[in-house]
Amino acid sequence: MARIGLHNVRHSYVPNPKADEDWALKHMDVEWQDGGAYALLGPSGCGKTTLLNIISGLLSPSEGTVTFDGTDVTSTPPDHRNIAQVFQFPVVYDTMTVYDNLAFPLRNRGVKEGAVDARVREIATMLDLTSTLEQRASGLTADGKQKISLGRGLVRSDVNVIMFDEPLTVIDPHLKWVLRSKLKELHQRVGATMIYVTHDQTEALTFADQVVVMHEGAVVQVGTPVDLFERPQHTFVGHFIGSPGMNVLPGHIDGSKIMLGSSTVGKVPKKLEIPEHSEKLEIGVRPEFVSFSSRGVPVRVTKVSDAGRFQIVETEHENNTIRLLVPEGKPVPSENAKLAFDPKYTQVYVDGWAVS
Ligand code: ADP
Ligand code: MG
Repeated sequence: MARIGLHNVRHSYVPNPKADEDWALKHMDVEWQDGGAYALLGPSGCGKTTLLNIISGLLSPSEGTVTFDGTDVTSTPPDHRNIAQVFQFPVVYDTMTVYDNLAFPLRNRGVKEGAVDARVREIATMLDLTSTLEQRASGLTADGKQKISLGRGLVRSDVNVIMFDEPLTVIDPHLKWVLRSKLKELHQRVGATMIYVTHDQTEALTFADQVVVMHEGAVVQVGTPVDLFERPQHTFVGHFIGSPGMNVLPGHIDGSKIMLGSSTVGKVPKKLEIPEHSEKLEIGVRPEFVSFSSRGVPVRVTKVSDAGRFQIVETEHENNTIRLLVPEGKPVPSENAKLAFDPKYTQVYVDGWAVS
């Protein structure tokens, strides 16, 4: 296992990158701690696969260095990096049996047959592949083949890191849930550093201790699921995580007050620092931290939807939509509605970044 560092890494697929959008990775300075369970979360095209391929060495970054335990490996080829990578689509040897597929990474490194057998059987049990061990891989369904790929990723116990690139895309929903829990369990058992790439927040939040959120080629926040929920450092994190996502509202500062249009929504915190030349000030508050109140922001209720234990209430204030969650059975005022924002979870954002 190893601590993995990316230092001032940038990557572009075009020969002479100039504009911001020429960079698939704009700027990366991230450390992955030894033994951590990480999720790399972000929408399609934000640079997740590019980042994994730079860690594994399939791709050499345009700028910056990659280190394993402090040693520079930027120019070390993939097969010398001691990494297991599981791709989005199955990579299996069709003509080999399931057993031989699973054994391959171990035999390749000269592991003795007795040890190979024990480990193959252990992994097969975990992934429910035992009954298929003697079959040829070609006869398996897409699900089955992807389980072999996962197994091949997990079979070695001496790798620096195991990386999964949206590995459950081709797996059916029920099995997805089962495999995700197994990966989590396996992480706890073997303590390997794992990086699990996904665009699905539920997958990320259930698997990871630390979630690395990416947006347009940059990491916008690294934190625990609770950090991302309670303290989004960027409006993108607020939007992307949570359902519905955080309310992001245009705001301004008036003396000691944070204003939303003509209404006060909070007091300016002492440590608020608004950078010079900033362009846009926004107020972020999650629907969970907004409530009806006798005093506050006057709104008109426009929609109420039932979401099980909660009602999602949509309101309007001077052309802004503000959503809040109201517990099931609790009344929603039909007129003179006013909203209060919990000050502990109301943040000011300048040009997208939290400043309070
Ligand atoms: P993700 O895995 O998050 O979906 P990728 O790392 O695959 O994102 O892609 C990031 C950006 O780099 C996208 O704009 C994508 O079009 C571009 N890109 C990815 N691979 C290549 C490539 N081989 N050649 C050129 N552009 C690429
Ligand atoms: Mg990808």
